[in-house]
Amino acid sequence: MNDYLKRVYEDVKRRDANEPEFLQAVEEVFESLSEYVDKHPELEANAIMERITEPERSIEFRVTWVDDNNITHVNRGYRIQFNSAIGPYKGGLRLHPSVNKSIIKFLGFEQIFKNSLTGLAMGGGKGGSDFDPKGKSDSEIMRFCQNFMLELNRHIGENVDVPAGDIGVGAREIGYLFGAYKKYRNSYDAGVLTGKGLEYGGSLARKEATGFGLCYFVNKMLDKMAKDSFKDKKVIISGSGNVALYACKKVYELGGTVLAMSDSNGYVYSSKGIKFDLIRELKEDKRARISEYAKLDKDATYFEGSKGIWNNPCDIALPCATQNEIDLDIAKTLVANGVKAVGEGANMPCTLPATNFFIESKILYAPAKAANAGGVMVSGLEMAQNASRLAWSFEEVDNYLHKQMEAICDKVFNIAKDYDDPFNSVKGANIAGFEKVAKAMIAQGII
Ligand code: NDP
Repeated sequence: MNDYLKRVYEDVKRRDANEPEFLQAVEEVFESLSEYVDKHPELEANAIMERITEPERSIEFRVTWVDDNNITHVNRGYRIQFNSAIGPYKGGLRLHPSVNKSIIKFLGFEQIFKNSLTGLAMGGGKGGSDFDPKGKSDSEIMRFCQNFMLELNRHIGENVDVPAGDIGVGAREIGYLFGAYKKYRNSYDAGVLTGKGLEYGGSLARKEATGFGLCYFVNKMLDKMAKDSFKDKKVIISGSGNVALYACKKVYELGGTVLAMSDSNGYVYSSKGIKFDLIRELKEDKRARISEYAKLDKDATYFEGSKGIWNNPCDIALPCATQNEIDLDIAKTLVANGVKAVGEGANMPCTLPATNFFIESKILYAPAKAANAGGVMVSGLEMAQNASRLAWSFEEVDNYLHKQMEAICDKVFNIAKDYDDPFNSVKGANIAGFEKVAKAMIAQGII
């Protein structure tokens, strides 16, 4: 890190000392921007690093809801509106007991650069709550979403801030949130949320976008850097939610085999391959635990504990569950077992030492902010369809996604090469994402 970055980072560390995930995300970005910042003194003159690490607005609120037994619960809601230099704030809502300000800030910070990489006009934001949707009835989920939106509605809008899904927020929750927004505001602002159902303004291929986009990126990376592809590759995917499921589907379409998938309790393994239709039905339709899968597929075995999934040898690892699931020890195991490529479907699934180890070991590495940008990219297309009151076909959206994910991959690795560090995709992604935002901030003055 150069002196300017070091000074700003020390200041962020002092101010946000109790936000480890946020500090981790800032450190990763700063480390990779050092040479770029050296060449651009206008960044310091305009206090860009000080400004980009401080959210434009940070909202924390109480969410009160009543469960099916008439007991009242209080949760904490968040919306971090991080940066609007290139467009309205845009980023998902996460419902998980682990949610706190540090996690929402790291996600919002990453989102700034990811959204910039998509080439669309979207700023960075993120939100959520420490509400645990697991084990709740439909009507409890609905009441929570309505009460969450009771506060959130006054802070968002089609041209202000456009939330979407993330962990624990899928089509069902977006529906309840949209219904509540419409009621409170008496206005049908279709573009205020993305990830909507197809009946009321959702986009075809949004559900598939993050997982498909991840595989398009990784396939392009394999081709560009090693003249290789997913064909005949053994793949391990962590998680079995939205991102993991559609990554699984695309791996098969590209000729690979998915050996294992997980949830937060454990994982299933089958040398013959996890069956996509079966796992999709279990997880998406029935909201079952992954252990149920092994009861229905005689070739599969269930193992308790989710981290063990990475002890199994594979050619390609796609972490698609949550942050910091791959630490240095796991990274070493993967490399010792011959992994050729790692593609991050989840946000920040690798710790900083794990990321650096993959890059130093010359493993092809697809960093989250580039590799999982397909979700927000198609959210951007959903906003465009809502604004024009048109609906595009699945093929139109998917072709756009495919082409743009390949373009992002090219950009990331070309920049890495320009900086004489051809395997350092983290540097490529951070510089590519940062440059446009910084220029826009400078053009808009010190504000
Ligand atoms: P889902 O809620 O649909 O699925 C999350 C999956 O990860 C579940 O299988 C869940 O298991 C598992 N999981 C969650 N926490 C843990 C944990 N601590 N340990 C092990 N497994 C865990 O979320 P998504 O698929 O939407 O999101 C997954 C990741 O992808 C997140 O990092 C998210 O930020 C990122 N992402 C999502 C995008 C999207 O479009 N949805 C876009 C870009 C990034 P369990 O059911 O047991 O909790």
